[in-house]
Amino acid sequence: MTSAAFAQTAPAPTALLEKTALERYVAPERPSLVGMSRAELAGALGHIGVPERERRMRAQQLWHWLYVRGATEFDAMSSVSKALRAELAQYYTLARPEVAAEQISVDGTRKWLLALPPEHASEKPHYVECVYIPETDRGTLCLSSQVGCTLTCAFCHTGTQRLVRNLTAGEIAGQILVARDRLGDWCGARENPRLVSNIVMMGMGEPLYNFEAVRDALLVASDGDGLSLSKRRITLSTSGVVPNIPRAGDEIGTMLAISLHAVRDDLRDVLVPLNRKYPIKELLAACRAYPGLSNARRITFEYVMLKGVNDSLADARELIRLLKGIPAKINLIPFNPWPGTTYECSDWEQIEKFSELIFNAGYASPVRTPRGRDILAACGQLKSATEKLSARERLALRAMAMTD
Ligand code: SAH
Ligand code: SF4
Repeated sequence: MTSAAFAQTAPAPTALLEKTALERYVAPERPSLVGMSRAELAGALGHIGVPERERRMRAQQLWHWLYVRGATEFDAMSSVSKALRAELAQYYTLARPEVAAEQISVDGTRKWLLALPPEHASEKPHYVECVYIPETDRGTLCLSSQVGCTLTCAFCHTGTQRLVRNLTAGEIAGQILVARDRLGDWCGARENPRLVSNIVMMGMGEPLYNFEAVRDALLVASDGDGLSLSKRRITLSTSGVVPNIPRAGDEIGTMLAISLHAVRDDLRDVLVPLNRKYPIKELLAACRAYPGLSNARRITFEYVMLKGVNDSLADARELIRLLKGIPAKINLIPFNPWPGTTYECSDWEQIEKFSELIFNAGYASPVRTPRGRDILAACGQLKSATEKLSARERLALRAMAMTD
């Protein structure tokens, strides 16, 4: 894609638009149809004069072209009349976030730097990152939900960047489309299975602080007539926004991951400062009550391994005690360093001992293999290119590259 994807040249239909969800992610003049629900698509068709009796059927056609075939131009939509295609192209686009840069790790992980339009035309674009992680039995796409993050977890690179804005539903779902475009992963382009088989909301941002857009995008992603990603293959990770956990269960229904990282409030207050608002006890109570929780649908507890900070065997025992009665998996994440951090990853031996203790208590406790570290694509390493690295960070980055 070129920057033309965001060039807005057609006459503005904004006067025609009612105040609907459409406006939430409108590129100023010609809105993109990407990320709209079927009802929103029907509304968009109504705005350009498609009679009401046809709208549902036409919306379904658009849905198919957008999410099954991956159309990037209206002209590719051969089942839509030429006249309607021209009309649609005059008022709308199929724009996804623009790929500003692509990096491929030695381990096959790919990271895309995506440019998003600013609120005002005179401003610079915003940037977020999206990561594709190929594995033997799956391909996982890690999506961002915000430009930056309002939270300031002590060990997370994104947390050092102030929040610039929430992503729209279109920009979140658009990341899936970008990945499928770049990987040639659309229906008809290659044999099944799809390369993108799983989604994790583990990129930049706190998804439960951008609830509606994340919900709408994940409902698009899991729609069986479109992108068709099963909700069991979608995981939403939260640092613990307790009031939105039951809503996530009721309104989104995907798998849930909790960034726990500490078993005592005094430490979690430092590592995940949101803990001061929603302490461990409240967080775990919300987990126990998570709608649809069962042994077949467990909550994943993420635990970043920080040397000498949270990695003692006493911590492991306390973790087991805390999670008693919650259908859970424990995911140990080796700390991924970034320029300027003072934390270190636990020694491998210690991670193994910690993991063994948990395993012996009956929990699956996979250690997450760091992927794409060489391109700063691993958990917690993402940071927008809009934020320039300081000279100190650049030096640290060079030193890291030399020791890897
Ligand atoms: N904001 C959400 C989702 C994004 S972060 C959340 O915090 O859950 C995805 C996971 O990576 C979280 O568990 C997060 O705590 C973890 N993480 C952040 N920085 C990390 C780092 N430097 N090394 C390893 N994991 C990290
Ligand atoms: Fe934000 Fe998650 Fe990073 Fe914490 S770990 S700063 S919530 S992105």
